[in-house]
Amino acid sequence: MDITYPAKGKCCFCDGEYINGGHSPVPIVHECATSLRCCDKCYLENVVPTILYRNTDEYAAEVHKREQKIRRKLATQGLRLKKSRTKNHTADDYGGYQIIEIYSNRIEAGEKFDLSLEDVEDYANEE
Ligand SMILES: [Zn+2]
Repeated sequence: MDITYPAKGKCCFCDGEYINGGHSPVPIVHECATSLRCCDKCYLENVVPTILYRNTDEYAAEVHKREQKIRRKLATQGLRLKKSRTKNHTADDYGGYQIIEIYSNRIEAGEKFDLSLEDVEDYANEE
């Protein structure tokens, strides 16, 4: 999906103006929010460090821990967490989650693996 952005616009973080098309705020902002752009300063200070951190073993361990916690919580609600197996970083379902009803095997939420880790945490904590 190719989207062209206006050359100038409002930064989604600081409300300042971005120029030259700005930058993608993903992964701080969910991939679904494709219309959002951010300025050079916010990109360098917030987005880049987040991208770098997410490539570390430390982050992988943190994610694993959070997933385990969510799995335990969902299990008490008759639900299970399914993670997208896509290894392609540009795929729509990359790294996303789905929540399955254990007994009927019905998809409870995240039909296209469009739930983020934060989304599934909220889901598990809501019920
Ligand atoms: Zn900004």
